Amino acid sequence: MSELPVVIAPDAVPALVEYLHRLRIDRVNLVADHNTWRVLGQRTAEALAGGNIDVHTILLAGGEVTPDEQSIVEVLRAAGREQRLYLAVGSGTITDITRFASHRTGNDFISLPTAPSVDAYTSTGSSLILRGLKQSVYSQAPIAVFADLDTLCGAPQPMIAAGFGDVVAKYTSVADWKLSALLWDGPYSEPVARRMEAARDRCMAQAEQVGAAEPEGIRDLIDALIEAGLCMLAFGGSQPAGQSEHYISHYLEMKLVREGRPPVLHGAKTGMATTIVARYYDQIARMSRDEAAQRLAASPLPDRDEEIERIRFAFGDLTDGLIVEQADFLDMTENRWEQLKQRILERWPEVQAVAREVPSPEALTGLLETAGGTADYRVLGLGDEEMALAEEYGHYVRNRFTVMKLSRVLGLLE
Ligand SMILES: [Zn+2]
Repeated sequence: MSELPVVIAPDAVPALVEYLHRLRIDRVNLVADHNTWRVLGQRTAEALAGGNIDVHTILLAGGEVTPDEQSIVEVLRAAGREQRLYLAVGSGTITDITRFASHRTGNDFISLPTAPSVDAYTSTGSSLILRGLKQSVYSQAPIAVFADLDTLCGAPQPMIAAGFGDVVAKYTSVADWKLSALLWDGPYSEPVARRMEAARDRCMAQAEQVGAAEPEGIRDLIDALIEAGLCMLAFGGSQPAGQSEHYISHYLEMKLVREGRPPVLHGAKTGMATTIVARYYDQIARMSRDEAAQRLAASPLPDRDEEIERIRFAFGDLTDGLIVEQADFLDMTENRWEQLKQRILERWPEVQAVAREVPSPEALTGLLETAGGTADYRVLGLGDEEMALAEEYGHYVRNRFTVMKLSRVLGLLE
């Protein structure tokens, strides 16, 4: 597995200049907005110019940049026709716009993150809003990441706390991934899981330093976020980094977009949702094999029409797509259902071992709060009713076997 170079340093800019020299790259498009220009872009442009690299700066106009058609055309119009390496100086949004524009013009790009807020820097997909609809569009991963620690430590506190929340999410994502391998024959990689856990644990040990925006903490935070992205690339799927907790978050996000409400930072939602998913792991960890057997014996094969009604109730217009997505679950035969229940019972000790790897909801709440975040959805501007819907129906977002699907089979989710 060839892996892209990642530099995390107090001043990463000189290393970037050296890297470009080594690659004999002497022409770049630097994409930033006014804010990221101020915190990192200008310093980078000056250093590059000082190193005889021709820098063409593309400044996105306005306050809050949206990853939509307008921003993409703005970048393409300013870029011209020359082949140039792109530099994305920004957080998720600018990175996704640059990722897309560079890919479609046949150029490479390098990511210079300005906030440790998401694990998507090394992703191959661009999260764009096209015709008002949020979607992931295939583009490319960066050829390298240069994370400037001084800049990251100065990022807005809510963005740092959100990044930490997205690392907390790796407790339940990795556990769900293991469950799916145990009970549903889902694809799995032990070395990648270990790698994700190691980066997550290093970051969790620094919760206090993250909360104080100290360089040691921010270093382990951005490292865990970048590792998560690399684990997804190495595995070829999002399993290591996003499962049940992300589906709850996706459900809420789609609802917020549909209702024209202000967005909530991705990691703030996924961190909070991790404490909810952990409640199910907690119940399973404490459930005796006898109780599991009784619950399974009393659990009938889900009725297809009833299940579709539930999906329609929760998702409205998106239902048809989800019926296709959920075919494995919806079209299960009586035979397959019995086999699944038998498998769960046979592997109950292993299921419980996975469940015990997830910290208690209280411990996770403590971690989030130490790092300056919250497990309280009300603080994030979310209501009781929509949270209940997200908890019950979030698992329909993707066709994966997770603890929420297991809870559905055990009758814990009704
Ligand atoms: Zn995430």
